[in-house]
Formats: sequence, structure tokens, C-alpha cells
Amino acid sequence: MSEDLTAWPYQEARSVLEHLGRAAKKGATDKPVIFETGYGPSGLPHIGTFSEVARTTWVQRAFEELSDRPTRLIAFSDDMDGLRKVPENIPNPEMVAEHLGKPLCDIPDPFGEAESFSGYMNGKLCSFLDSFGFDYEFYSSQEQYRSGAFNKGLLRILECYDEVRQVIIPTLSYENKEEWSPFFPVCESCGKVNNTRVLEIHPEDGELTYVCDQSFRGSEACGHRGRTAVTDGRVKVGWKVDWAMRWYVLGVDYEMYGKDLIESADLSSKIVKILGGEPPVGMFYEHFLDEKGAKISKSKGTGLTIDEWLRYGTLESLGWFIYKKPGTAKRLFFEMIPRSTDQHLEERASFGRVEEDSERKNSPVYFIESGRLNTGEEVTYESEVSFSMLLNLVNVLNTDDREILWDYLRRYNPEVDADAEIIDDLIDRALRYYRDFVLPTKEFRLPEGEILVAVKALREALAAADGATAEELQTLAYQTGKDHGIKLKNWFKAMYRLLLGQDQGPRLGTFIHLYGIDETVALLEQRIAEAEA
Ligand SMILES: [Zn+2]
Repeated sequence: MSEDLTAWPYQEARSVLEHLGRAAKKGATDKPVIFETGYGPSGLPHIGTFSEVARTTWVQRAFEELSDRPTRLIAFSDDMDGLRKVPENIPNPEMVAEHLGKPLCDIPDPFGEAESFSGYMNGKLCSFLDSFGFDYEFYSSQEQYRSGAFNKGLLRILECYDEVRQVIIPTLSYENKEEWSPFFPVCESCGKVNNTRVLEIHPEDGELTYVCDQSFRGSEACGHRGRTAVTDGRVKVGWKVDWAMRWYVLGVDYEMYGKDLIESADLSSKIVKILGGEPPVGMFYEHFLDEKGAKISKSKGTGLTIDEWLRYGTLESLGWFIYKKPGTAKRLFFEMIPRSTDQHLEERASFGRVEEDSERKNSPVYFIESGRLNTGEEVTYESEVSFSMLLNLVNVLNTDDREILWDYLRRYNPEVDADAEIIDDLIDRALRYYRDFVLPTKEFRLPEGEILVAVKALREALAAADGATAEELQTLAYQTGKDHGIKLKNWFKAMYRLLLGQDQGPRLGTFIHLYGIDETVALLEQRIAEAEA
């Protein structure tokens, strides 16, 4: 029953259904339902790009559960946008600086690989999206404007010129704002789009008159005056109007955006209505924060990149992280990786156990692992091995040898072979995490004084604890510290320093159970001998 489908993508999809009802009243046909994601090609795709596209595809999948209407996903690149500033970290910045003010698609590729600056970035976007298996159609401003596909919208804006202006002008604060025009002609003389200004419009001819006289830092205007048609890519529309025109011409039904664009989306919605269209359903999302809750800063190197996440965590764990509560700000830092990985594995395990259709369809796994589910692959997880456990295990075993890890896992949990492929992959990631982060900070401390006495007592107690459970071992460790009158916090800290070379670690009982009672006794003996040497 579709009313049992309550996960957030279905709620979004239901809003799309209501929107389609409104659009139909305005004469929209039974065209495919269009989901759009936008991209500004002045920088490389990043984790925000990924999460926007992933979330949009989840709403698309939910929509397909509720409706038989065909759907399409458009990834739109605004590559006719003018370059205002030379981006950091690109080669040949002087060359790029000479082209400030020109559309990104008319600037040579500083990397020397593609036909233009935006061509390079668009290529990166597509290979980025392809690497995750997204099923999308790539559209670009350049192609839409210059092929004439946007002509209908451009002429419509010319018809509604003053109404459109009256939406934007009250939001501007500069002098002469009354002169503001939604149109930015590409100067026929110097090729710049950020330096021109409209003098007069000629709606009857579909043309306008302009002058290229707006110099800004680093970009000289050439002074050219001309009259041009607004069609076929000769004129670009300023961004909020451009967004509305895209919705209008492409018939966009759904598009999500970052919180900073709420006001823009509101204005673009007003404009698309003026043009005669129906604004798409839109959900805004919060941006990622760093560990301290501050905005992620690329120049300060805070927060995680998608490459960093995928070095240590699975793609599904990243999917899990961005699936949960899309409307709340998320902190993006390393500790989120094991946490998300384990939450995903738990969800996978319960997904594998439930049989009821709607319960499965409400599970995040149904969205995150749609690719596997679509091919009929079984999606489940039988074993109790978690990523945190593997990280601990690698840590305590102090080894790079995956066979030793497997031996331990099989002893701990005979079910592991059912999930061998997943666990083997997680072992790889745990080893990387260990080498990159844990190993460089390890610092062992030998016991002394009352701690040494207690450690000896624990060794004796463990030697007689054959077959004890993790819980019993935890009690034993706890009791030993208590019996020797050591503050428990200090006792456990000393044990972690002794065994792991760190101030913190897994529950001691879990550690001993995993590492082996005999092995722990042997390790303690070794440490005691070193301490007394
Ligand atoms: Zn010019």
C-alpha cells in the first residue's frame, strides 16, 4: 500500500505528484517528469555535488514507486556563466585572468585537455557522476542557448520584461538599480558577458541594444555598442532569471538546492510563474560542517573530501550518511566513517531479515543500494563483525597481515565467511585507516607502582578465566582495578596505554575476548617483564 511508504523520499515524491496536478491545470502535457540538479562549472565536483545528485535520484526512485509516469534526471551545467574571479589551485592563472568576464565555455582550458575551461570541468562532472553509476542526462547552458533550445524562454522574458524586473529590483541595493536588466548580452566585440549592460529593448524584433562599459577588477570593458537578437546564445540571462527560464523551458518538476539558495529559489519561483510555468518542487538541504560545527573551508583544509571518505569508508556508508535527515546540518569528519559504516551494516542486516514489502521500501538500504537490488542481488549482512571492531582488531593485533585478521575473526564469529567479500573490503579500509591515523600516534606506556601490581593480578585472573565471555572478562577487568583501589578511569586508561598505546579503546572485555585470553596473558607477561627490566 503506497500510504505505508513514509520515508522522506516518498514525502518529496508526493509533493511532486501534487505539483503535477497544478501543472496539468496550466496545460502541461503528460511529458516525462523532470528531476534536475544544477552545477556551476567554475570548480571541481565535490561531496556536495554527490549528495545533491544522490538525494535527487532517491526522490526519483520513490516517485517511480508511486507513479507510472516516466522520469528523467538532468544534470545541468551553467557553463555560459561569466568568470568573475580566477579560481585558486588551477594551472595558468595568468592566462585565465585575461579572459575574466567571458562565459566559462569561451575560456581556454587551463589544464590544456578540453576545448574550454567549462569543457574540462563538465568532463570532470560527468566522469564523477559516471563513477557512481548515476543514470542522468547531461545538459549545458552553452548547448541550450546556442542551439536555440532556450529561445522560447528568452523571447518570453522579453515579453514579460518589466514584470520580471520588478521581482528582482527590490532585492538589489546598488545605485541605478532601476536600470537593471535580466539580459546580459555577450559583447560581439570582446566576447565578455559580465561587462555589458542593456540600454533599450525592442520586443517587436526580439532584440535589444547594449553597451560594453562595465569594467570590474581585472576585467576591462571594450566600449562596444551594438544591437542584437536575444536568441541563439547571443544574450545570457542573469542567474535567478536563468534558473526560472530553465524550469520553464525544460519543464523541471523537482530540484533541490542548498540552504543559501532559498531566497533565490523563491524569486525564481515567482519569475517562472510570470513566464507561465509552475515552479518545481524543491527541497533545501543544509551544507556540511566540519568537526567543530563550522562551515567547511577548502583553503583551511577542514572537513572531509569525498576521496578521503572513500579511501576509508564504503560508498554505501557515505550514502547512509547523506541519506539520514537531509534537512539537518551534518558534521563531516573522520569519526563519521566508522559510525556510518556500522549503522549501514546494521540496517543492511535488518533489511535482509524483513520480508514485508513496505518495510523494505522504507529502508534507507532500498535507496542506497538500489543498484544491487535492481539486479536481483541479495542485500543482507549476517555476521556480527563491525567496522569499529575491525579497526580495533587491526589496532590491537598491530598487524598488516590480513590472514591473521581472518583467523581471529573466524574464531570470534564463525558466521564471517557468509559476508567474506564485504569483510575483506572493510579489512582493507581498516588497514589504511590504521596506517594513516592510528600508527603514527601510538605511544605505549609500561605499568608501574600500584598499576603494575594490579596488572599482575589481572594476568593471574585471566589465566584462570578459560572460556569466559566478553561480558565476564569486562567484569573481571573492572573488579581487578576496583580491588586494588585504583580510580577506574585511571585503571582503564593505563590498560589502553599498555595494550594499545592509546588513551582510549574498545571495552576491555571485548578486546580480551577478541584478542584471545591466552594471547592477552602472553602480552601482559611481556609488558610486565619490560616494566621490571
Ligand atoms: Zn566588449
